Amino acid sequence: MLPTRRSALIGFLAAPVLSAQALRSTFSQPALSPTPSCGDEAPTPANDEGPFFKPDAPLRHDLARDAPKGERITIAGYVLDETCQPVPRALLQIWHADETGSYDNTGFRLRGHQFTDEGGRWWFSTIVPALYPGRTRHYHFKVQRRGGAVLTTQLFFPGEPRNKTDWLFDERLLLAMSKAADGKFGRFDFVV
Ligand code: FE
Repeated sequence: MLPTRRSALIGFLAAPVLSAQALRSTFSQPALSPTPSCGDEAPTPANDEGPFFKPDAPLRHDLARDAPKGERITIAGYVLDETCQPVPRALLQIWHADETGSYDNTGFRLRGHQFTDEGGRWWFSTIVPALYPGRTRHYHFKVQRRGGAVLTTQLFFPGEPRNKTDWLFDERLLLAMSKAADGKFGRFDFVV
């Protein structure tokens, strides 16, 4: 039986904050190096901001209520530094298209921000964005450590046909997806 999104998130949050190497070897591709390090892949690549960013989106974890007809997904992960240490109190901003492929450019539907918890973890409950012309499926993010530079990037979905034709697609920015009983669960660790 599949876990619910909520139980998957609780499991993620309840897991002990892992050491740097354990974190990498648990969540990355099969570890081939005897001394895995965030430096091998860090930092997370930047990607295009696009035309729809708006500052001052509200502080919140739950965006799904903005789009009750959308397919539910919980996305979660760590913010890590380049030595693979979790970064508490990092700022994450998210904005994305709704279930029809539209952005809210007058209000703050499907826009929000939050800070990582003391273990460097973030999560949003939201929906799977629809495709819109010219783009594959994606979320927009800005991620910033306290006092650090802002990383503007996007996260993508595996197995999307348009990943092959969207020149902004970057396989280093793929969510690791799993199914839940009530939607999907996606995981991505930012290294900033
Ligand atoms: Fe977009």
